[in-house]
This record gives sequence, structure tokens and C-alpha cells, in this order.
Amino acid sequence: MNFYKPSKNDKLTCTLCQHYCDISLNKTGICGVNKNTGDKIECLVYGYPAVINVDPVEKKPLYHFLPNTKTLSIGTVGCNFKCSFCQNHGISQEQKINKDKYYSPEDIVRLALKNNCESISYTYNEPTIFYPYIKDIAVLAKKNGLKNIFVSNGFESTEVITHMAGLIDAANIDLKSFDSEYYKKHLGGDLDKLKQNLKLFKKLKIWIEITTLIIPNLNDSNEELKNIAKFISTELSVTTPWHLSAFHPDYKMLDRPRTTTDSLKVAYDIGIKEGLKYVYMGNASLENNSKCPKCNNIFLQRITYKTTIEKRKYGVQCSICNSKLDGVFKTARTMSVANTFYSSSCEDIKKQFNHFKIILNESNFKKELPFIPKAIISPHAGFIYSGFTANAVYGMLENIKASTILVIGPSHKHNFKNASVSMFEDYNTPCGNIKIDLNYANYIKNKYDFVDFIPEVHNEHSTETQAPFIKAKFPNSKIVEIVYGDISYKKISLIIDEVFEKYSHIFVVISTDLSHFYSKDKATNLDNICLKAIDTLDINTWNKGCEACGRVGVKALIHSANKYKFNSKLIDYRTSADITKDDKNVVGYVSAILGI
Ligand code: SF4
Repeated sequence: MNFYKPSKNDKLTCTLCQHYCDISLNKTGICGVNKNTGDKIECLVYGYPAVINVDPVEKKPLYHFLPNTKTLSIGTVGCNFKCSFCQNHGISQEQKINKDKYYSPEDIVRLALKNNCESISYTYNEPTIFYPYIKDIAVLAKKNGLKNIFVSNGFESTEVITHMAGLIDAANIDLKSFDSEYYKKHLGGDLDKLKQNLKLFKKLKIWIEITTLIIPNLNDSNEELKNIAKFISTELSVTTPWHLSAFHPDYKMLDRPRTTTDSLKVAYDIGIKEGLKYVYMGNASLENNSKCPKCNNIFLQRITYKTTIEKRKYGVQCSICNSKLDGVFKTARTMSVANTFYSSSCEDIKKQFNHFKIILNESNFKKELPFIPKAIISPHAGFIYSGFTANAVYGMLENIKASTILVIGPSHKHNFKNASVSMFEDYNTPCGNIKIDLNYANYIKNKYDFVDFIPEVHNEHSTETQAPFIKAKFPNSKIVEIVYGDISYKKISLIIDEVFEKYSHIFVVISTDLSHFYSKDKATNLDNICLKAIDTLDINTWNKGCEACGRVGVKALIHSANKYKFNSKLIDYRTSADITKDDKNVVGYVSAILGI
């Protein structure tokens, strides 16, 4: 799509922003970077960002969009506004383009991925003026699972905003004043058009947050602030975040004082009084927490827009009243070992499970159990190695009606104290999502002080490898995932005890592998200790030399099983040598079933 059209007298009209400049041949429009080259308008800054940075997304500022993630931020020279207080005037009011290095859209996306960013932000100067570059980057970004963010003065053309739908995921838009004269005189803009644009962003379901730079004696009267807050709450939504930003003297506006914390607080109170749920005070080193819109519980804790502090929580559901925070959050526990530990193709996984089933049926394996299963122990290597052992034990659960499966496994990638319960909404598997039982997850997090939600540890294969089996065997059940770090087994057993005592609808899965990388003879000797301990439910036996990465979980299960007088049955044991034929470096796998 082109953003220009023919005009009178051989001119071309640029349709990127609301200025709709009529541009003569070889001239540029108001921004200085879009030029009539004869048959088209060329965006001169295409491929030439003046700034590239990796920022926290909070710095945009966006507080309700993928919190605590990094965003690759790019800006060029040029702007369609002439704000005398511009804090980025070094690039925005510059029109000289440095063409030393060309960055293709592919280069930008590659940089974002390399820096572990979850989004690309078009920011620093007004992105609308380089939208032809943005749209090419944004399409590629989407294909690579990245989100796109616009940080803008809101003066886009209707054509550009309409084009953004489905491509741009979030925007922070300046609402610099509620005075039409101010917009005209100080900025070279148009308040009415901005208001229309904000409504259009909202209508097109692009997540927006609003920023107002509070400038002493210019736009800080109570009446004006009240009008802005009222417009946001009534014409956009009470759930639209409003960022009040403190002014500091800059560019041509050096004659005014900084905004005081007191005047920010006055503006904050006005926003709250007008019904806004989320009002923030930026550029002032204040704590800016996101609170539950219903019960005021802190969802997200921030000291400044740049800082993440230790106790920050960013689940999607309030841990007290179960309300949701408005915004765009990472809501799925994504797969981290698909295509390595197991196939990302559902069809391939089904074929593999079927293959395991055929082998089992052809053996003399007996499915009968003299007790009702309440928990299993299952291995977590690549399916090619331990999938048969896992499939055999899950195959014993066909008549079990559990509405929630509690999966407990050790962390292999992160060192941390205690345990983390996953607070995302969905758990991705190649055969579709499993709903996370957030009520139960919340309950665990609130009840046990050794359980928190630490999002980054939920890229764990010990638990993730159970999910395809759970999806296959319990297609209608929910899941709760606990990943543990440095913790005693007695703490984990408190959670298991409670399930055995009170919750017949919850089934427990403990994930572990056995000894690692010994010769087959030594591995078998060590693993036999573990097998005996599981079979007899005896922790003392386990302590006689059994080695297992998931030892805490297994010991917790044995501890609880003893308390409730459970029975145990070993289902399968084998080692990686069965597949690799390498007897020198062996990993052991066991599956077992426990019940009453
Ligand atoms: S982007 Fe806006 S200011 Fe620049 S040429 Fe186009 S219409 Fe004019």
C-alpha cells in the first residue's frame, strides 16, 4: 500500500499524517523526510534509524503491555510537530540523515530477536513519518512472534491508523493538552483530529495508554487536567492507563521550572476522581504500582518505569479477588522444548503414542491395579528415550476422572529458592492448549509462603514433557505446574498432603529422571535403590544412594503416600542405552503409580 496520492498542479499528497502535505517535485513535506521524487513520495529515512536501543517496555511508557519484557526501540530523524519542549529534539528536529549504515527490516527483526526482545517499538521521534519502513518491519516482526509498538503524538492519518489494525499491537499516545489553541500554537497540531484518532485506535482494538507531559503554567490547570481525564474515561475507557509525566526544561523551553511531585499528585487525584483505574506519575522516581481495579491489591510493583523490584508479580489474575488486570499480558505458558524433547506436530506425537501402545500391547504387561491411582511418577527426557516409560504409566489412568492435574518437577535451568507456580492462563501443547486452573494456582500461591510465581522458570522441560501426555489422556482437565528450586521435600509434601486429604478432583504427577551419565552397570545399581524405595515407599532406602534430578518431588510423594497409607506399583524402568546402545553414558527412567 502506498501512502500518497496525486494532487493539483503535478503535486503529490502525502497521506501519512493529518497534515496531508501537498508536495511539489523534489520537495519534502513538513516533517522534512518524505519527498516527492516524481512518480512517488519517497520516505528518505527508510532503512536509516538514527537511534536503536534495547529498552524495558515500561520506558515507552507502557505499563499494561507485556510487563517486564524488553523492546527494541528505533527512531529516525524528523517530526511532523514542532514542540518547543521536545525532549528528543536532537533527532526529531533534525533533518540530516546519516546514511552510513542501512538497516533492512530483516536486520531490525534479527536485532530484536538477538536481544531477546518481545516487541519492536517505533519511538523517539514521530513514527508516523517513517511508517513505510515500519510496516515492512512490523509484518516481519509478526511472522517472528514479535509485537509492534507505536509511541506517537497521535497525528496519524486515518489511512495509517486503519492500516495499523492487526499489525501494531500497542501504542502510547501523547495527549499534550486539552486546549485547541495550545495544540495549534505550540505544537503545530490539531486537538480535534487527535481526539478522533484516539477513538479510532480504541475502535480498532489497539491497546493504548495515554501520556500527558505536565508543564508548569502551561497545561497544568485543574480544569484542563480534569477535561483530559474526563475525555479518557468517557470517550476511551476508565481502564485506559494515563501517564502523567514530569517536565524538565529542554530545547527551546528553558524558562520554566520542573514539574513538582505535588502538582503530579494533584493531577493523579484528578484522574482517579474522574474514574480512571490506572494513573501513573512518571519521570519523578516514584513507586508506580498497578493495582487491582476491584480490591486495590498490587498486581505489578515498580519503583520507576525502568526498575523491576524483587516482589513484582505479574500474573493475569488478582491473587486476592481473582479479578483481571486490564491490558495485554503474556497469557500462555509457551513450549520451550518442542522440536527438541518432543515433536511440535500433534500428528507426530499421536503416532508416537500409538507406537508405544502397540509395543506395550504386544508385551505381557498387565494393566490391572489393586488400588485407585492418585499419583504417578513419570520421566522427562526426550520422548524417544523416556516416552515409552511415561506413556505406559499414563496409559494406566484411562478411567481416572480428574479435573485438574498437578505437575511437580525440578528446575534444570534456574537456581532459585523454593518453588514457583505457573500463573499464565493457558498451557501450550502441540495438540492445543490446556487451561491452567488459576483458582487452584492462586490458592497455592497464597497459602504457601514458599510458593511464588517466577515466570522465567516456567521454561522447564521436566514439567513441560508431561503436558502432551496430559492433553492426550485428560483432554478436558486443567493443569497446574509447580517448578521447584532449592527446597525441602517436606514443604512440597504439604501441597501433596492437602490434595490427598481434600481434593479428589486433583491428580498428582511427579516428574523425575534417575541417575545420569554412568556406565550401564553402575546406573542400574544406583537406580535399583530408587526403584526399591518407590516400590516400598521408603525414604530411608531412597537415602541409601539413589540419584535423581527430581528427588525432592519423589521424596515428597513418598512422604505423603506413607501418611495416607498408599500403595505403590512400578510400571516401567529402562535406560537411554536401550535407544542409544551406548552403555558408557546412561540415564535411567522410571514410571510408577501410587494410590489407595
Ligand atoms: S508525514 Fe506528515 S508532515 Fe511528513 S510529508 Fe507526510 S503529511 Fe507531511
